[in-house]
Amino acid sequence: MLIVHNPEHARHAGRHEMYRGRLVPCHEVPQRLEHVLAELQRRGFGRPVAPDALAEPDAAGFEALLRRVHTPRYVDFLAGAWDEWVALDPENAGLDALPSIWPVRGFRTDIVPDNFAARLGRFSFDAGTPLTAGSWAAARCGALAAVRAAQALATGAAPGGAFVATRPPGHHAGADYFGGYCFLNNGALAAQALRDAGHARVAVLDVDYHHGNGTQDLFYERADVLTVSIHGDPRSEYPFYLGHADERGRGAGLGCNLNLPLPRGSAFAAWRSALASALDALRRFGATALVVALGVDTFEGDPISGFHLRSTDYLDIGRAIATLQLPTVFVFEGGYAVEPIGVNVANVLEGFAGLD
Ligand SMILES: [Zn+2]
Repeated sequence: MLIVHNPEHARHAGRHEMYRGRLVPCHEVPQRLEHVLAELQRRGFGRPVAPDALAEPDAAGFEALLRRVHTPRYVDFLAGAWDEWVALDPENAGLDALPSIWPVRGFRTDIVPDNFAARLGRFSFDAGTPLTAGSWAAARCGALAAVRAAQALATGAAPGGAFVATRPPGHHAGADYFGGYCFLNNGALAAQALRDAGHARVAVLDVDYHHGNGTQDLFYERADVLTVSIHGDPRSEYPFYLGHADERGRGAGLGCNLNLPLPRGSAFAAWRSALASALDALRRFGATALVVALGVDTFEGDPISGFHLRSTDYLDIGRAIATLQLPTVFVFEGGYAVEPIGVNVANVLEGFAGLD
């Protein structure tokens, strides 16, 4: 299996996030990925490669893809956000930028305010996602890793599938907003790269505990990309405002989105049954390539989630996904029980590769 890592990931290291009304130390920390990479190395997976080592540098092609999946205005905002934050007040250089105001129903969003704090809210949906000095570099390199992995898959250079070992995660990020620890939607970018490389029908399977609202939103009106997500019921679980079972797609995309919400407290029997439904939908759709948004915050020990999957269950998940027999790129998403996430991610990949 091809492992593509993000050598810039540790540059995104937020200090605090707003969580249940309090500023708490960030859950989404660089050590998460270090545990995953260490466990993969311990089990003899191949040496991780940097995205630049995979293909002829095609910076223009990547920039164009970034600006098709996300809006150019949003990409420009993220690229310059840290400098603007520090320009507001030099003391900001020692702080993280956290949004504090959002345009809700009835507010105007057609005119983008000049004020940076206002625009930080315009392009986000929560205060859990600190923007730091290195956030853009880390997010951009992670997106590049996802795109290069997808391209390697499409050219046959990764016959055993690929894993994108990156953070910050991506599945909550939409066309022009960040949130849920995500800035650029790595999985959606990988899916679009597969479409661009000639795959007529691509599917995204999101197994993170939280609904992949950004991915759903990006492809909601498209018939060429099926989005399927198994997650905690949004009536009680983040991101709350999207992820219900009746969201099936719109227009040409009607029928191309499947949400499988499960109650908080669900164990693997219920989760496995939802996965069977997801795999049926993927088969019916006739995708020729698959992106898996691989969050392991479904783990029983996860500090911010509510399912009860055990480490050995992740081997089953990998095996079940392998039965689709599709070219597959796994993109790392959530998972916050810091040490066990290495074992859980490696178990999915090992099950998928038939190594167990
Ligand atoms: Zn999650």
